[in-house]
Amino acid sequence: RKQVDVLGVPVDVVTMKEAIQRVQHMYEEPGLHLVATANAEMVMLARRDKELHTILSNAALVVADGAGVLWAGEQKGQHFPERVAGCDLSMALLAEAAKRRTPVYCLGAAPGVAEQAIRNVEKKVGSLVVVGTHSGFFDDREEARIIDAIVQSGAKLVLVALGVPKQEKWISQKLAHLDGVVAIGIGGSFDVMAG
Ligand code: UDP
Repeated sequence: RKQVDVLGVPVDVVTMKEAIQRVQHMYEEPGLHLVATANAEMVMLARRDKELHTILSNAALVVADGAGVLWAGEQKGQHFPERVAGCDLSMALLAEAAKRRTPVYCLGAAPGVAEQAIRNVEKKVGSLVVVGTHSGFFDDREEARIIDAIVQSGAKLVLVALGVPKQEKWISQKLAHLDGVVAIGIGGSFDVMAG
């Protein structure tokens, strides 16, 4: 696993294709696998947010999302093969999930947005096995039900759109007990897909 240190955050040197392949392997491996898409904002935030820094340092995969991260690599004489944008990565993971009938859970964004995003994505990649969706605005009681639903549904891919760093912290705090599950923080990707 080749990584480049970008201001203290280890970022994986991978193409989009390699990122997809890595995720495919994670479904077979024990534990919860957190995938993060690092842009300059996230890297800067991790410099003063210890919890975020620890999460990113222990993540299963951190891709270079954003020109700033690619540039920082070049400054250190380390070349990232390409930008792996969060929205593109989530689209590609969903395309793969459609093909392999991988169960997907979608959490985050305003009510109805994830559902609309899924409908739009399905027009492009074919039908998905969506085992559950929930908006990103919930209280503690609903949260307990969401976590339960994710576990009970057998979701293998969990897309979490709560914004940075809330989504990364939520995944690592709430889903750590899952097994063979990939959870990725996707920021505003549902909004983009729904638009
Ligand atoms: N969001 C949410 N719950 C929250 C805060 C944010 O569901 O408590 C959603 C918001 O609706 C949006 C996404 O999280 O869809 C954050 O998008 P943004 O583009 O701000 O992401 P970032 O730039 O933080 O990656």
